[in-house]
Amino acid sequence: MEPLLHLAIPASLMLLRGGRMRWAFLAGLGGTLPDFDVFFMVHRSVSHSLSIAVIPLISGVMLRRRAYAYAALSAIALGWISHVMLDFISGLTPVIWPLSNYYYGLVFDLEFRMSSSPIITLDAQLLEEVYDYGLFKSFEAPIFTAEGLALSIILILIAIAGRR
Ligand SMILES: [Zn+2]
Repeated sequence: MEPLLHLAIPASLMLLRGGRMRWAFLAGLGGTLPDFDVFFMVHRSVSHSLSIAVIPLISGVMLRRRAYAYAALSAIALGWISHVMLDFISGLTPVIWPLSNYYYGLVFDLEFRMSSSPIITLDAQLLEEVYDYGLFKSFEAPIFTAEGLALSIILILIAIAGRR
């Protein structure tokens, strides 16, 4: 999934649950952090595991007496966890590393076909593949697409309009 959506989705969630703009920004930033692994020549690395994604949340709970740190770290954790879950449904991800040395991906399709009679088919599969720590020699991915840009703008506008 493209970085712009990884930013817009948790930022929108934070705004919709009444979070301030600064926490929404941090949630969006947290949503992009896992993909910084590409600068280390790996992708979908351990940064895409829930065990790593909850570190900011645990740190926030440990610092809960400092309200500002707790809110900031919780916002980052929200973004990071959303990234892991979004990648889990859009490809193979080491979602439960180190508990498992496999990538997992959830494929879920609900299709509608119209012919002489309408047909609805549901397909859900849990894919798995041996985890290779995401090593790559070259990497190519879109930063954003027109579809992702439009969807991100719509999400942010809805979240801003839905604020109390
Ligand atoms: Zn990712």
